[in-house]
Amino acid sequence: MSPRQRSTAKDTPPGGKVLKAQIGKTWGRDRDVSYTTVLLSTLILLGCPLMVVLFLITCTHYQCSLEKPLYLLSVHGFFSLESYYLVILQKLPSFTWDGLKMYALWLGFQAVLYAVLPAKIGYGQRTPAGHVLPYKVNGLLAWFVTHTLFLVGAFYFNWWNASVIHDHWDALFVAANIYGYFLTFFVFAKAYVFPSHPEDRKFSGSFIYNLLMGIEMNPRFGKYWDFKLFHNGRPGIIAWTLINFSFAAALYNQIGYVTNSMILLNFLHAVYVLDFFYNEDWYLRTIDIAHDHFGFYLAWGDTVWLPWMYTIQSHYLLRNPIDLSIPYFLFVLTIGLSGYYIFRAVNYQKDIVRRTDGKCLIWGKPARFIKTHFITSDGKDHSSILLTSGYWGKRISRHFNYVGDLLISLAMCLACGFNHLLPYFYIIYMTILLVHRIYRDDARCRGKYGKYWIEYCNVVKWKLIPVREFFIIM
Ligand code: NDP
Repeated sequence: MSPRQRSTAKDTPPGGKVLKAQIGKTWGRDRDVSYTTVLLSTLILLGCPLMVVLFLITCTHYQCSLEKPLYLLSVHGFFSLESYYLVILQKLPSFTWDGLKMYALWLGFQAVLYAVLPAKIGYGQRTPAGHVLPYKVNGLLAWFVTHTLFLVGAFYFNWWNASVIHDHWDALFVAANIYGYFLTFFVFAKAYVFPSHPEDRKFSGSFIYNLLMGIEMNPRFGKYWDFKLFHNGRPGIIAWTLINFSFAAALYNQIGYVTNSMILLNFLHAVYVLDFFYNEDWYLRTIDIAHDHFGFYLAWGDTVWLPWMYTIQSHYLLRNPIDLSIPYFLFVLTIGLSGYYIFRAVNYQKDIVRRTDGKCLIWGKPARFIKTHFITSDGKDHSSILLTSGYWGKRISRHFNYVGDLLISLAMCLACGFNHLLPYFYIIYMTILLVHRIYRDDARCRGKYGKYWIEYCNVVKWKLIPVREFFIIM
């Protein structure tokens, strides 16, 4: 049965729709994109960089208050160019050679760790063209080496101040952007000139969409140097805890101690980051690696968006130090750890059932699952399984792991108190990202598994929250 045959009207669930993009030589990322998608892609390409820079200026110059710059713009006049110059443009981060050197050193160091540290070899999911790629999994070791070196350099050798990242925050931002844009255009050109796996490229016919969502799925240097795994993990996620720590050190320099809100935030973020690296092999079976192609979304996203937007709360707590009451502290900690428990437990069940080919216990009973078939573009038939018990069973939902993630994200925001909106950006963003993912994943899995996915959706009806029919729209 060809993928085209699989995506027939017969297989379409009531109210569901098979996208044109899913019908073709192979499943995977969209190829036929609409004008609306191109328009939205353009908005993302322009809007995200603008948002990061505005948030940065807001935090650095207006104590992370969104109202202050708006108030000043209203005073100077919303329709006067001079007022935008005074309130925003004058405060744009500037380039410095020191910033560029620091960033280059950081990136080079991470690349060396990725290449030389001892690594386990993990394997990704089968790609639409049929490849099963090996990955070097050594992120946890790289995290420990990086953080140990940072602490020893700061506190034992006094090579730098622990607040060094905060102290060069603006200059690092400019340097990261230079690299993020370079990387975006480099991988775009590489996809045409020397692609790693030509059969796994997706051309949509829209330059904008190709630039944003990428053409190559797994651009690589050699057998192991994977752009996606490296950029998401190393300049992205390793930087996350290092940046937080540096902002905590800056807070100490500023007020003589570190507030419990900053400690709580550092702790919650560290749990999330360490979990990621402890389970790095699991990450190889997530949508980021198994589905997304490498364009601006991941290239600039991992190098600029992630380090600057995911750490906005520690920047906020530096500009607005808050001491939380002990009951409130424990309340937020409980939400965060409950979210983490759900996140890990749900992801674990999906991972173990795939690793053991269904020969495992889920909640003490043999796993229940649907045996599926799918075809890759080389024409070969493959089988896989979709878990239908435990957290992935009919009484829960198809994405309960996202509920755990949203609870952790909420706790990270709650750690910042209720004085400003800006720290709550993270939960708003994560909700949009994950709800959108539910639809992206549904389209992908319907294209890949056809009738088996529909059977699965008939068993596990809820998408996110297993409550009343009303919430099925989630
Ligand atoms: P999932 O880990 O849920 O992966 C979805 C994929 O898993 C599907 O495409 C399908 O792939 C497979 N799958 C779906 N249902 C089943 C099933 N019942 N049994 C077995 N396999 C199934 O989603 P994500 O990759 O989006 O997220 C992974 C985690 O990362 C989540 O916890 C999420 O919250 C988190 N995350 C965090 C982000 C952040 O920025 N902090 C961003 C994105 C995600 P196939 O069958 O092809 O293998």
